[in-house]
Amino acid sequence: MSQQADPSAVRPSTDRTVVVGAGLSGLIAARDLGRAGKRVLVVDKGRSVGGRLATRRIGDAVLDHGAQFFTTRSSEFIADVQLWQNAGIINEWCRGFEDPADGYPRYCTNGGMNQLAKYLAREFEGLTLDGEPLVTVVTRHRVQSIVPVGDSFTLIYEGGSRDVDLASNVIVTSPVPQTLDILDAGGIALDPAIADDVRSIRYHAVIGLLATVDGSPDLGPAGALQTPDGPTFSFVADNAAKGASPLPAVTFHASHERSESLWSLSDEEILAELRPSAEQILGSVTIQDVQVKKWRYAGPVTPWPDRSLTVATSPGHLVLAGDAFGGPKVEGAYLSGRAAASAVLAATA
Ligand SMILES: Cc1cc2nc3c(=O)[nH]c(=O)nc-3n(C[C@H](O)[C@H](O)[C@H](O)COP(=O)(O)OP(=O)(O)OC[C@H]3O[C@@H](n4cnc5c(N)ncnc54)[C@H](O)[C@@H]3O)c2cc1C
Repeated sequence: MSQQADPSAVRPSTDRTVVVGAGLSGLIAARDLGRAGKRVLVVDKGRSVGGRLATRRIGDAVLDHGAQFFTTRSSEFIADVQLWQNAGIINEWCRGFEDPADGYPRYCTNGGMNQLAKYLAREFEGLTLDGEPLVTVVTRHRVQSIVPVGDSFTLIYEGGSRDVDLASNVIVTSPVPQTLDILDAGGIALDPAIADDVRSIRYHAVIGLLATVDGSPDLGPAGALQTPDGPTFSFVADNAAKGASPLPAVTFHASHERSESLWSLSDEEILAELRPSAEQILGSVTIQDVQVKKWRYAGPVTPWPDRSLTVATSPGHLVLAGDAFGGPKVEGAYLSGRAAASAVLAATA
């Protein structure tokens, strides 16, 4: 149902882009726009920036529970990864999980993947115009709808948790089903020529176990096991082995098939199903504390063929981005953020 903005709550119009989502794609889009001298507001429903670059603490242990590592293929991403490595933010974890390894570098973030997002957000402090910050980040605010009103878009937040915001352009980086909810609520219709294809973008789910343990498990030379077709877990990693955690702490990601089959169960039931396999992998190492983490939209099954998708050009540009567009990985999210920023910059040049 279409939603109307309350004019009394509307802030003064500004020439700025709102980026919905402070995952990697949103942060990179905001960075590129800010570097080009554009004003940007980034809003995210989460408690912190990062999205699926997600890290959780259990006691003194630090565990990545979304993306575990990333690879590099494109020259743009390689250039930034080199800078982040030089800045001491990321490190090369290993060159493969098989024995022998395949030789391609796998990177991860010191102190947990979420630290890369925090590093990118810190860069915004240096982007100013006339002494004012160009890029502002607001967390804990869920965008409910985007409504074209007059010569701008109006963003309305769930439960009126924040006054509405105006934007001349909007980049939306949430997973596509969540993005469609926002567009539908604002009465923004997709071009019929692409609507069915966009609505058919599906994601696979992932269920994870996050376990603190009483010693270093034997998970091979890299401290991780990758078995994409494994019956229970597709990836198991000791967060200490990759420099995320000061203490051994293991992330188990259930395979896509297993995650789907367990999805509707309670955390207790999921634990009962998965814990025996986790204990078998750990051998003599004992689980101390364990938590369940569910990702409904872990990764797109069938990504869009282009790196971003402009769904409206009036009253401004409304661009969809995220790993469903750039490709289903960290690098894809990065490339999509860059493409979305380029689309807005081209429209405002
Ligand atoms: C379990 C798991 C394991 C993975 N492993 C790997 C890996 O090893 N290597 C790899 O390369 N990739 C991996 N990935 C994929 C990788 O994490 C993603 O491709 C990438 O992080 C996606 O970034 P994004 O910016 O597109 O989306 P996200 O990081 O999901 O960012 C979208 C943001 O939008 C916000 N949002 C959503 N709706 C709203 C709303 N209504 N209002 C405001 N904000 C909203 C969310 O809070 C989120 O922060 C993994 C993902 C998961 C879940």
